[in-house]
Amino acid sequence: MDAGRAGDLQPADAAIGDAWEEDLLRRYPEPAVAEGDSTKPQPDDSFRDYGEDTRDGVREFYRQNHVHQTVAFVRSMREKYLPLRRQRMGVWEAIERLNELVDDSDPDTEATQIVHAVQTAEAIRADGHPDWFVLTGLIHDLGKVLCLFGEPQWAVVGDTFPVGCAFSDKIVLPEYFAENPDRAVPEYQTSCGIYDEGCGLDQVLMSWGHDEYLYQVVGRYLPVPAQYMIRYHSFYAAHREGEYSQLMNETDREMFGWVRAFNPYDLYTKHENPPDLDRLLPYYQELVARYLPDTLDW
Ligand code: FE
Ligand code: FE
Repeated sequence: MDAGRAGDLQPADAAIGDAWEEDLLRRYPEPAVAEGDSTKPQPDDSFRDYGEDTRDGVREFYRQNHVHQTVAFVRSMREKYLPLRRQRMGVWEAIERLNELVDDSDPDTEATQIVHAVQTAEAIRADGHPDWFVLTGLIHDLGKVLCLFGEPQWAVVGDTFPVGCAFSDKIVLPEYFAENPDRAVPEYQTSCGIYDEGCGLDQVLMSWGHDEYLYQVVGRYLPVPAQYMIRYHSFYAAHREGEYSQLMNETDREMFGWVRAFNPYDLYTKHENPPDLDRLLPYYQELVARYLPDTLDW
């Protein structure tokens, strides 16, 4: 670990990942209102300071994330990981290893990673969605294996956002971007920054984390809507706040309908009854085998 990261939250603080997800629930207690659906209560448009009630550990997590996610950092992580030459492992091995890592910190909790994976997938299946959507629910967080490779929490989880252009003030606790070194680069301060208007999100460097990493590992095997769900599920500034449309193209706008469709299954299924894993496993093993090879390059 280099000196620049001294004092940062380390992988042992795995509970922070869960704390961030709990904080998401606090920030977004209700599913987004579908466009054109007037039967549901409309969100209150008045400005809400989501950061105000954030607990200290989570605030510190957001601070580190906002300070360290720069263009240079994202480029360095892409160089480090995206050759995908670190390890070969299958989906089930990734799930098992994540469980061991995360649950080590709290021996009383059940294997939370597989429970979240199966709960998300089961809720999607119960609503009659296509099997690739169910599979996406199962695997969407496997990019968190970055923790296994020693990355600090702020480089694995947390809301994602573009770097190389102005940070939206709709990102949680935007004041922490004041300390981000990219703030001193004038080229990065305009609404499109280093990108062309409407260039499409594929051209945009997103803050580094489990979304982009898993997209790079499994995206090629999955339909485009599944790729978007995996790649942008933590991009709350866009899928919940409607920001960054200046960088999107037509495909992005269309596909974000799928990202928004996925979000409630990710956020609002955590307090349902724990799934009967033994009963469900054969179904999921067959589903994974139908779409993905036995081993993947990570
Ligand atoms: Fe996630
Ligand atoms: Fe998730």
